[in-house]
Amino acid sequence: MNFAPDLLLQGGRVIDPAAGRDGIFDVAVGNGQVLAIAPSLPREGINSVIDVSGKIVLPGMIDTHAHIYQYVTGKFGLNADMVGVGSGVTTVVDQGGPSCMTFPGFRAFIADAAKTRVLCFISAYLVGGLEGHYYPELYGPEQVNVAHTVRVARENPDLVRGIKAHAEIGGASRWGLDVIKLGKQIAREAGLPLYIHLGQLWPEKPGTHIDPDELVRELVPLMDAGDVLAHPFTRHPGGFISTETGEVHPIVWAALERGVTVDVGHGSHFSFDMARQTLKAGIKPYTLGADMHGYNVSVGSADTERSQNPFFGVAPFNLTNAMSKLLALGMGVTDIIATVTSNPAKMLGKTDEIGTIAPGRVADISVLELRDGNFELADNSGITVAASQMFSPLFCLRAGQTYAATSPLVPPLTERLAA
Ligand SMILES: [Zn+2]
Repeated sequence: MNFAPDLLLQGGRVIDPAAGRDGIFDVAVGNGQVLAIAPSLPREGINSVIDVSGKIVLPGMIDTHAHIYQYVTGKFGLNADMVGVGSGVTTVVDQGGPSCMTFPGFRAFIADAAKTRVLCFISAYLVGGLEGHYYPELYGPEQVNVAHTVRVARENPDLVRGIKAHAEIGGASRWGLDVIKLGKQIAREAGLPLYIHLGQLWPEKPGTHIDPDELVRELVPLMDAGDVLAHPFTRHPGGFISTETGEVHPIVWAALERGVTVDVGHGSHFSFDMARQTLKAGIKPYTLGADMHGYNVSVGSADTERSQNPFFGVAPFNLTNAMSKLLALGMGVTDIIATVTSNPAKMLGKTDEIGTIAPGRVADISVLELRDGNFELADNSGITVAASQMFSPLFCLRAGQTYAATSPLVPPLTERLAA
């Protein structure tokens, strides 16, 4: 091979769970690809040498839960590159924004236009995630077309990597599990995983009452190996913790044993209490997913439409902030890095393309800082947790191009004042 790198990342701590690598390495990049990785590489003749000593170098981060169908989904959809390369993230997966009807726009105006690698879990519903699924009347079984959605998924395997649906009490009060069963049928026929949102989304139909525990008990047996349960730590009813017992639903354990996986899907509903209980019970999230959207993060302007949305949030967060929360809750650094690299690559069926740093692979690489300090982390139920370390993105390489992590969506590292 012609060894002519144009960029060298020198002396960083490379943590690559897929390769079983954790140590100090140089990484040489040329022509958009990784050319070499070794404890020491020659720097002569290389145009750009970046000293990353003291930093963490990891395979390009993958955010498994994004909302980036900008404009079409109203304020809900964020700019793909603000969530992606501008935040140190090289791959973002839109969860349920595009549908079979709106998919061509997603490809042309979002995926093709972004510097970030953009994938999606296509919506089970005809309309997709308009206005963040605000109007429940658009999301019943009459508003699902299995054949059309399967066809679009099959015709676009480069972008469509799964199917998105919701299991929550507002929908169940209207249609039972009918929509979820249709979502499962789409996933099965398309040969793709089903990603299920847990936790209340819509208000219950007036005059009805759904038991969230019963909903989880009915839902989970429908899930197969490779399917994904999201928002296990939700502060809304219907997550992993039973409202009856205060413990993890036994049926969740059975699902995890047969290969159903867990995505954090942080969002505005992440709860430290629920996370602590779930992790303490021994459940490890498989993928992370920031779940940022225009109602739960601020891109500068506050307005009433945002604050009236059921998923309005004030606690700032992003993918690296969610990683810091898992760290504060006791999860190990390598396990956390796996939730944004090797594990999502498996979930997306793309382990031959992304999720590891190896010669001959596309140069998708993230560089983070793990800063020591006296930090405070917050959730939207009013709980704050002290943290002695925070992950913070510095820059990423996407296909060998360098992007600084200067997105306004990266929250500042706020040091706590000494008491
Ligand atoms: Zn979401």
